[in-house]
Amino acid sequence: MQRRLKFEKTANLGMNTLVELITTKGKSMKHFLMVLLTLLSQMPIGSAMAQVKAPANDEFRVTLLGTGSPAPVMRRFGPGVLVQAGGKNLLIDSGRGTTQRLMQSGLKLGQVDALILTHLHSDHVVGIPDLWLTGWLEANYAQRKGPFVVYGPKGTQALMDGLAIAYDWDIKARIADQNLKPESIQSKVTEIDEGVIYEQGGVKVVAFKVDHGELLQPAFGYRIDYAGRSVTISGDTRFSENLIKFATGTDLLIHQVAAAREDLLKSPVFQVILAHHTQPHEAGIVFTRVKPKLAVYYHFVLLGIPGIPAVTEKEVFEMTRKTYDGPLLIGEDLMAFRLDAEAVVPLATRSQ
Ligand SMILES: [Zn+2]
Ligand SMILES: [Zn+2]
Repeated sequence: MQRRLKFEKTANLGMNTLVELITTKGKSMKHFLMVLLTLLSQMPIGSAMAQVKAPANDEFRVTLLGTGSPAPVMRRFGPGVLVQAGGKNLLIDSGRGTTQRLMQSGLKLGQVDALILTHLHSDHVVGIPDLWLTGWLEANYAQRKGPFVVYGPKGTQALMDGLAIAYDWDIKARIADQNLKPESIQSKVTEIDEGVIYEQGGVKVVAFKVDHGELLQPAFGYRIDYAGRSVTISGDTRFSENLIKFATGTDLLIHQVAAAREDLLKSPVFQVILAHHTQPHEAGIVFTRVKPKLAVYYHFVLLGIPGIPAVTEKEVFEMTRKTYDGPLLIGEDLMAFRLDAEAVVPLATRSQ
């Protein structure tokens, strides 16, 4: 299985690489400057859109736009996964910062063909107004033609209707003042249930129920198939037999994870949060049974308070290893993957 993993450098070197190279190789000032200049020439300056190659026609690419949870941190923006296949650009969830990360991924905001929501927790939808409204502008990074297409659980229509009321002043002002097209700020919502929810251009999206807790229904995960390859995205769930059923045979499994130290779990508040999510040793069982070509963690819920530090990502990795010994990566924002017929190829993380 490990042999299937090969890394390709297709994007800019990150700041960590810069620091590492300077630390290990910068023995003289001359050398330091040479390394710095070489690397700066490869860092994104100005428009990120000019730097990231769009996927080729038959390419199946998955980009983690945001790998975080509600915690407002810069390193991990809110949940969002961009799936590009068959000429379609599908966005799974729109957490905080999705709009900025989309720009960094090289896609115009208006090029998103459909937003597909796992559930309606705020960390998964708080980025919608930005994507919806900013994507409507005529600026070259936006330019949506036609309605804002959304698939999601029951309640999605009410969410979009509410946003239309909340932003009524802006919408009317821009139609009157900038002559923006009213039809492109309309939303076209489909409320979904388990089953095939989208099938266009050879891309098939199947929704399956996951288990985010009794009071948090419905919540869905998604499997997206194209040309004999597939990615499955867990959304928010605790250990889910249904996810295993639908994900079996998938190539790339993107799964959420949550963890806390035992001392922290004396507090009921943290018990409740953890009870809604999958812990590393449980995710390991999921991966072992699904046997993806590659498992990747996103939506990190690593709980901590002053005096009780959060579980580290390295510890998450090690805890997973108790129940799973296959290919596994800790996801990062803007980490991307190409799904080939024989392998899932991680593309280098782009600079954030
Ligand atoms: Zn969440
Ligand atoms: Zn949630």
